[in-house]
Amino acid sequence: MKKAKRAAVITAVVLIIAMLFSVLFIAHETGHECSGEDCRVCMKISACENALKNITGAVTAAAALAAVCFVFVRTLVPLHSFYTVLSPVTLKVKLSD
Ligand SMILES: [Zn+2]
Repeated sequence: MKKAKRAAVITAVVLIIAMLFSVLFIAHETGHECSGEDCRVCMKISACENALKNITGAVTAAAALAAVCFVFVRTLVPLHSFYTVLSPVTLKVKLSD
């Protein structure tokens, strides 16, 4: 479980860094001197835009899936079952000698 959390955190950090640097590159190179049809900067900007679209789509899908799972679990498992403590009182055990 701990490794899964670490992998999720590392993945999230990598995605955030990729998104950040893509946005920064696009913002930095928007005013470049375009050399025409085969401009390398325009190709890199296009690649960054595609990466942003893919990452955004994946993050949106993951968030929607997490929300559906949360709602599904919450409707199947009532809230009071998480907090019920098993004790002789809650189990209604008769303690008579
Ligand atoms: Zn260009």
